[in-house]
Amino acid sequence: MQIVLGVSGVHHSYSGPPALDGVDLEVGAGECVALLGPNGAGKTTLVNLAIGLLRVQRGQVLLAGGNPRDAATRRHLGVVQQSLGFPATLKVGELVAGAAVRGGRPRSTAGPVLAELGLTEFVNRRAAKLSGGQKQRLQLAMALVTDPDLLVLDEPTAGLDVVARKQFWQLLEQRRERGTGVLVTTHLIEESAAVADRVVVLADGSVLAKGSPGELVALLPDRTVVARTS
Ligand code: ATP
Repeated sequence: MQIVLGVSGVHHSYSGPPALDGVDLEVGAGECVALLGPNGAGKTTLVNLAIGLLRVQRGQVLLAGGNPRDAATRRHLGVVQQSLGFPATLKVGELVAGAAVRGGRPRSTAGPVLAELGLTEFVNRRAAKLSGGQKQRLQLAMALVTDPDLLVLDEPTAGLDVVARKQFWQLLEQRRERGTGVLVTTHLIEESAAVADRVVVLADGSVLAKGSPGELVALLPDRTVVARTS
């Protein structure tokens, strides 16, 4: 399988004890890997290294074979992060077309992606007027419009109801079949079991366990290991 994200021997420290302490992780083309762990486990640090927001201190991170700090390499990447807001005045169509252009694609690539995500009817609506589920689909459209090799999703379904969650994952299924790899962080072990091919559990900056969702549920009967503590 072609590897779209390769993390090996990564250590990362801010000021105190290491946030990551020798972490290995791979995501293959078309594969969905879920990253679980309690607050402070190191998930965000690992994601920020994978998407080039943090500089690698020790070890190696390869995105589509390149350095995620390079702008050209980052064109292989799509990101959906909880913290990303939309400029309130911009319209859905403008946002997706803008994301296409920033990723080196023509504006015309926006139309098919908007249709794929069921957003065509909202093309002239201001992003701020969308519902939570629609906003999430808009973020996904902005991430997918460049046809990335790797999609990084940071708790993408937080705040969505069960129906919207299911719809979100169904939309991703077709992209995975076309070869897009997915790295998703979640606190929900049930969700990771439903959508991921493999699960990696981080605790205190190290990989506590990894395997198929079935293996993990058997290994981690105590769900508090992935429960939100705040
Ligand atoms: P959460 O689920 O709460 O987002 P996480 O698994 O994403 O947690 P990280 O945010 O990666 O964990 O944090 C890992 C460790 O690094 C924690 O001990 C945290 O306090 C520390 N840390 C994270 N960011 C910084 C920072 N900018 N400066 C100093 N320490 C940090």
